[in-house]
Amino acid sequence: MKKILSLFICIILILSLCSCSYLEDLTPHKNYDGELIVHFIDVGQGDCTLIESDNQFMLIDAGEAEYGATVCQYLENNNVKTLSYVVATHPHSDHCGGLTEVINTFECENFITVETDQQTRSWLNVLNAVSENNVNYIDAKVNATYSLGDSTFEILGPHSSNYEEYNNFSVVIKATFQNNSFLFTGDAERLAEHEMLDYGSNLSADVLKIPHHGSSSSSSKEFLSAVSPTYGVISCGYQNEYGHPHKETVKSLNALGVTIYRTDILGTIVATSDGNNIEFFYENTDEKVEKPTPVSYIGNKNTKKFHLDSCNGVKDIKAENKVQFHSREDALEKGYSPCKTCNP
Ligand SMILES: [Zn+2]
Ligand SMILES: [Zn+2]
Repeated sequence: MKKILSLFICIILILSLCSCSYLEDLTPHKNYDGELIVHFIDVGQGDCTLIESDNQFMLIDAGEAEYGATVCQYLENNNVKTLSYVVATHPHSDHCGGLTEVINTFECENFITVETDQQTRSWLNVLNAVSENNVNYIDAKVNATYSLGDSTFEILGPHSSNYEEYNNFSVVIKATFQNNSFLFTGDAERLAEHEMLDYGSNLSADVLKIPHHGSSSSSSKEFLSAVSPTYGVISCGYQNEYGHPHKETVKSLNALGVTIYRTDILGTIVATSDGNNIEFFYENTDEKVEKPTPVSYIGNKNTKKFHLDSCNGVKDIKAENKVQFHSREDALEKGYSPCKTCNP
């Protein structure tokens, strides 16, 4: 473990010496002008997301306090000078812990969070840092929209100001850039998911940051089908003590044909959107690591039905009648209807 850690520190040092960004290392030979870039920063068992649009930055959570320095280094490597928005989704330390160091290190213009009576130490530290650094405090209100560079984001939750389970206080944000959207859910659980569904918000998104590290206390079937993501990102620690992501969640995501990217396996994950297409890059490209396999949809030219490639119905399709689609939309556009068994 120590060896790996020192190797990691060496890599970080070399990277900063070359003054090349961490992102460039993850995503070589690309020019990201005019794109929305979402970094799911690996903070072990916790959440940390950096969103970048036209050189403006927003940070949602920063993992436990011990990851504060890692997050600050990552921001520095990506030439972040000012954070336009810093969001603390809820008072749990695996989300807001690292924010104190970030707020004390970088110029932060706005801080978005919800009022709660929870008095965790990490939470009080963050609130202190916000007031000491004169950061503009914004109370998260459903339907409020803000702009970040060329993209916009909207607050979709929480709906109540009183929950027994603190995870449900999570600020839920949907970021939209042209035809692509990302939904960030913090640790919102089923209750909060159902409030959003009942309220009738447009939850659909191309990428879903799977709520609560993939716990089965979240990701109800109704919520997942309303979001109907193509990609799901799970932020959790390698072999974490909670068993995240729970197998029920992974099963539900598989059933919907969602391609899953996990920080415990892939390390930091970067998604880029040009407004129509989303590409993924990740830190851990070791060949031994099991890579996400994009789900493909198989159509039957005869029946004009399409299936998930895992559906039993696919086995019976003759090779000459098989046609492959890149996405569900692609299949629908070409006049194919979804199989009633696998529900692609
Ligand atoms: Zn959490
Ligand atoms: Zn939590």
